[in-house]
Amino acid sequence: MERVYIGLGSNLAEPVSQLRGALAALGEIPRTHLAAVSSLYASDPLGPPDQPRYVNAAAALDTGLTPLELLDALQAIELSQGRVRKDERWGPRTLDLDILLFGQRRIDEPRLQVPHYHMHARAFVLYPLAELASDLRLPDGRPLQALLERCPFEGLERLPEMAVTP
Ligand code: ATP
Ligand code: MG
Ligand code: MG
Repeated sequence: MERVYIGLGSNLAEPVSQLRGALAALGEIPRTHLAAVSSLYASDPLGPPDQPRYVNAAAALDTGLTPLELLDALQAIELSQGRVRKDERWGPRTLDLDILLFGQRRIDEPRLQVPHYHMHARAFVLYPLAELASDLRLPDGRPLQALLERCPFEGLERLPEMAVTP
């Protein structure tokens, strides 16, 4: 089993419900255990500004799947929750499930790059992730704490209720 961190996001069709549904679905992935879930955070959208705010969270999984098997499972969950892939990048979506880290692997395949290429600069990824593993290091050795120091808690709002427990 390898420890994997997933970033979740939604800004359509009741985002909090979307994340709850996604977390339930993560718990059903074969050969995979949902180990921990962060608080939910509201965040300002990346990309086109004329879209609703996002709700984000991070989850820790322990999985025996390969990275591409896990990506398939995550994309199936996105589709089952009504995600429509559009040409516009970073446009609104019901659900986004990104693999942030997969153990200490570095993966560079056409369908999958891990660590997620932009996680180091996204407050809505780093702060939820830090709740789950504050002493984490990226495969290149950078401590999560160093990334957080360079990434202000801006446009982010921790939502009061711990919405889900695994
Ligand atoms: P961003 O990647 O900037 O967060 P996004 O999540 O909206 O944008 P998607 O439309 O969800 O992008 O995914 C586009 C493609 O990215 C997917 O089809 C998938 O094959 C690929 N991809 C590459 N690396 C990853 C990763 N670490 N996690 C999830 N998808 C990835
Ligand atoms: Mg994404
Ligand atoms: Mg994605």
